[in-house]
Amino acid sequence: MEASKDKKIFVLGAGLGGVLAAYKLSKAGFDVTVYEKKAKSELGYPWHDSVKPNTFSDVKLNIPEKALIKKQRLSFYCLESNNFVKQGSKAEKSFDVDRKILIDYLLSLAEIHCKVNYSTTPDSLLVENEKVCGIILNGKKLYADLVIDSTGCQSPFRKDVPEKFMIESEISPNDYMECFRGFYNKKPNALDKKISNVYLKPDGGNSLMWCKDAPDPDLADVFIGKLNVLTDEEIDSFLTKLRSKTPTLGDELRYGQRATLAVRYTLAVFVADGYALLGDSAFMEMPMVGSGIESSLKAGYYLANTILSPFCSNFSAKELWEYEVKFMRNLGSNFLAADYLKRWAMSLSDEELNWVYSSGLITENLSILENSDNSGKFNLKSLKESNPGFFKKAGIALKRKDILSKTIKALNVAAQAKITAMLIPPIYKIPNVAKWAKKYNSFIYPQK
Ligand SMILES: Cc1cc2nc3c(=O)[nH]c(=O)nc-3n(C[C@H](O)[C@H](O)[C@H](O)COP(=O)(O)OP(=O)(O)OC[C@H]3O[C@@H](n4cnc5c(N)ncnc54)[C@H](O)[C@@H]3O)c2cc1C
Repeated sequence: MEASKDKKIFVLGAGLGGVLAAYKLSKAGFDVTVYEKKAKSELGYPWHDSVKPNTFSDVKLNIPEKALIKKQRLSFYCLESNNFVKQGSKAEKSFDVDRKILIDYLLSLAEIHCKVNYSTTPDSLLVENEKVCGIILNGKKLYADLVIDSTGCQSPFRKDVPEKFMIESEISPNDYMECFRGFYNKKPNALDKKISNVYLKPDGGNSLMWCKDAPDPDLADVFIGKLNVLTDEEIDSFLTKLRSKTPTLGDELRYGQRATLAVRYTLAVFVADGYALLGDSAFMEMPMVGSGIESSLKAGYYLANTILSPFCSNFSAKELWEYEVKFMRNLGSNFLAADYLKRWAMSLSDEELNWVYSSGLITENLSILENSDNSGKFNLKSLKESNPGFFKKAGIALKRKDILSKTIKALNVAAQAKITAMLIPPIYKIPNVAKWAKKYNSFIYPQK
């Protein structure tokens, strides 16, 4: 490990995966510095978010028990319909994690071995001879052997990477959801009433809102999100809608803030010579459904392991590719399939969407994708086993053969997208990576 002591690593942004990687790498002897634009007290979100139960043990983190609370089962409503789909009992095995405690805990570990510069925003990446070799900070060149970009979905650094590495930097505004999360009082006569409702496309547009119980029994947790832009007037109008559906929701906003959510599939390429993206900066989350906490932490863990392997010595794209392959095979492949389905569902008419949704063909955890075999086709036997109600519901809907066949076709394309993502070239050679990336992107942008 002595050799690593003279290797310098910069982590840009105190994203979850970036801080985890900073901790692991600095503990192993690398000279690691984190540059975070916010003050320490402003980091993390003042609320709980859901995370799969094994996430922390998978990345060997012992997070404080007080950070975890049991997740509630949610009921999903679509459009104006009064039918809803209730999350399976599996949801109760998941947790919600306190976002402030989580980031504070990670930072407390990282700060044992590495320096974290808060309220510090680098100007740009430093690129020389088509290699990322550090950052420019306040006009000064600072050299590093590797720069890890953990600055979230609106990373200003992706665009600085030399074009030959094929890292997509022009992201469509429709790949973001502007959102507002607020915690309101519950009306005193309604404190014992359970609220756990999620509304998809409540205004017929590309929007999502929920009202559910907060961990504090006096409060309701409200989320309002819309693709691209969400104005203050729209927030007020969604709140009015939520109040009409949830009379227990009070008017007093106790705390809350706006935020941006990434809702697209993972970038096809996220490593370059001297540079790696992770977490939201590479769009590592299941579009619309979440899982960004798990993805960011696992990406940080995989990246640190790749860097710590005896085969990694100069942080070239070729060496860092092992990290990308691992992420794509374990997580990213499902995100591509889910994004294909999300875009397909958004292109349906309201009537078709209501049918597809209530038929159970697409479950909220998209577990149906697990039923594809190696050729990307569905295995009807396992589909039947994992979704016992599927054939009954599909049978009832046989009168709508048109939608049924459209849906099966979309599920098959999604399964093929997953297989394509999993067939990522195991070795980094630019022509092979370019060919694969083109195929990967074609599931979302067939015109490319
Ligand atoms: C309302 C809401 C609800 C969510 N719910 C869930 C959920 O239930 N489950 C789940 O898994 N995920 C959820 N997510 C997503 C989750 O928050 C992210 O996917 C996850 O935090 C991973 O993000 P990250 O760690 O990569 O980056 P981030 O958490 O975005 O961190 C990026 C950091 O970089 C810093 N930064 C930005 N620009 C610069 C710069 N130029 N220089 C230096 N620093 C910079 C930022 O200040 C920030 O600290 C939710 C997000 C929101 C907003």
